[in-house]
Order: sequence, then C-alpha cells, then structure tokens
Amino acid sequence: MILVGSTNATIGFPAGMEILRSGGSALDAVEATIRPVEDNPDDRTVGFNGYPNILGELELDASIMDGRTLESGAIGALKGVIPAISVARKVMETLPHVLLVGDGADRFAKEMGFESTEELLTPEVKAAREKILRQDMSAAEFASLAESDNLRQWVKLATDPERTYGTVNVIAQDQNGDIACGVSTSGWAWKYPGRLGDSPIIGAGNYADNRYGAAACTGMGEMAIRASTARSIVLYLKMGLSITDACAQAMQDLNELGGKFIGRMNLIALDKDGTPAGYSSMKGKTFVYQTSEMETYVEQERTLVEIEERWG
Ligand code: ASP
Repeated sequence: MILVGSTNATIGFPAGMEILRSGGSALDAVEATIRPVEDNPDDRTVGFNGYPNILGELELDASIMDGRTLESGAIGALKGVIPAISVARKVMETLPHVLLVGDGADRFAKEMGFESTEELLTPEVKAAREKILRQDMSAAEFASLAESDNLRQWVKLATDPERTYGTVNVIAQDQNGDIACGVSTSGWAWKYPGRLGDSPIIGAGNYADNRYGAAACTGMGEMAIRASTARSIVLYLKMGLSITDACAQAMQDLNELGGKFIGRMNLIALDKDGTPAGYSSMKGKTFVYQTSEMETYVEQERTLVEIEERWG
C-alpha cells in the first residue's frame, strides 16, 4: 500500500493513509487525501482561496480515475463548490459522462447535494490579484476588465511562467493492488475565463490503469494536453519501460514540443509494483510518498529533466 503525491498533498496524507491501513480503497484514499488540500486556505493553487481567473472568479478543475476499470470523472471551470474532487467522483459514479464544465458542473454539484460556498476568496487573495494585475494595467483597465472586449490581451499574465502555478496530484495503491489517481487545481492564476488545464483532461494530467501504473502532472497544463503526458507514461510502462525510463521519455516528449509557449512541468508516477517516481523541469522540486510500513511520508527530490522554456 502506498500514497504518492505532489508535496502540497502532505496535509491530506494522514486521512489517506488511515483509509489504506484500514483496508479502504485506493479511490477513497485519493479523495480523502485531496479534500484537506482543497480546504487549505494557504494553498493558493487548489480549491478554497486558490488564485482566480483574470476577472477574479475562482474556477476549479479536478479529475479522478479508477485504475480497475479506467472509469473516470472530471469537472472543469466549476464555480462556487469547493470539494471539486468529490464532484468529479460523483460524475464518474452517477453519470454516463466523464467531464462536465461551467454551469453544467455547478448545476450537477447542487443536484448531488454539495453546498455552494458564498465567499471563495479571502481579502488577501483579492488584494494580491489587484496588486499583481496592476503591475501591467492601469486602474481604469483593471476596473473595467469584466466589460472588456479584449480580455485576451491580458492572457500573457495568465501564462507567464514567473507567476503562480500549482496543483495537487495524488496516486494511491491499496491492499488489493488497485490503483487510483486524483488531481485538483484552481489552474493558472489570472487565466482567461473558461480555460481548462490538464487537470480535468483524462490522459493529460491524470491517468491510472491497474495493469501498469498511474501518472499525474502539475505545471503548464497546455503542454501536458498537447503531449498526452499522463497517458503516455502509462503507455510507456505498458510497452515495458521502467518507471524512470517512462517518466524520462515523457519529459523528453514535452521538451520536443514546438511552438512558442513552452514552460514548466512536473510529474509523479507509480508502477504496478508500487515503485514511485517524481520528475520536474525545475531543480530542487520534491514529491512525497508513504507506504503502510512507514510512520510518516518521505519527501524526495524529483529527477531533473530540463525543458527549454520559450515564451511569446
Ligand atoms: N497544471 C495546472 C493547469 O495547467 C496548473 C499547475 O499545475 O500549475 O491548470
């Protein structure tokens, strides 16, 4: 039994480990590990108090995948409901669909009995948005953003890799050897409204298949969408590559993407034998894992594979 996560997942590790140790499923462990991250006001990249889109609206993306059946559920641009991972799980369990977005996702969350939260952002985050955006725009431009017919001119702010980014990734393997993977994020700070990243796209930011393993991504979601990164890692495992070679190959695929918007990427992965791995295009980045024999998690440096960043 093992839990693997991005380092911001540690706040949820006790809940996830308890489920695994008491014989619960990988799926339950993934959801229980992610929920505290979504509730954590100090994590500005996931759930409550995440950095909002350019208009100041929080839009959440999340997905969950069951490696036993490859069933998946995802929501994108969900507004007003914090346990995005739980809404994604309900999509998987109750609908013949995989992905709901926008108003439909909100409507479905209400139908499933999730409370919508009135105040999703603290005054600090609202002030941070104003301070950061005002570096690039006048007071008048900032005040009239909602009415702007040229919002796209500010998208460079959303995609600037020097600004904030982050996501929570969690992979669990339970006592039956079953694997599940979950991802939740508020996406790129100051993104264009309605933008979906890799987190709700099965195969891009999340993939799990009991027979081979699982993988999840954080970083510039557009790249993981274009390279089908999470699915690629699992496919490389299926083709017989080791977990390290599979991740290195996926990083290389990302490095070979053409075009002008190439930024940063981080991966976590687990093979079917319970071997974890973490990769990053940034030096010093870590990931965490804990097996049922370990008293607490281990924080390990991710293997560095440089990706040449290009911007604009
Ligand atoms: N991958 C996420 C996205 O593109 C954000 C991140 O992890 O930085 O929405």
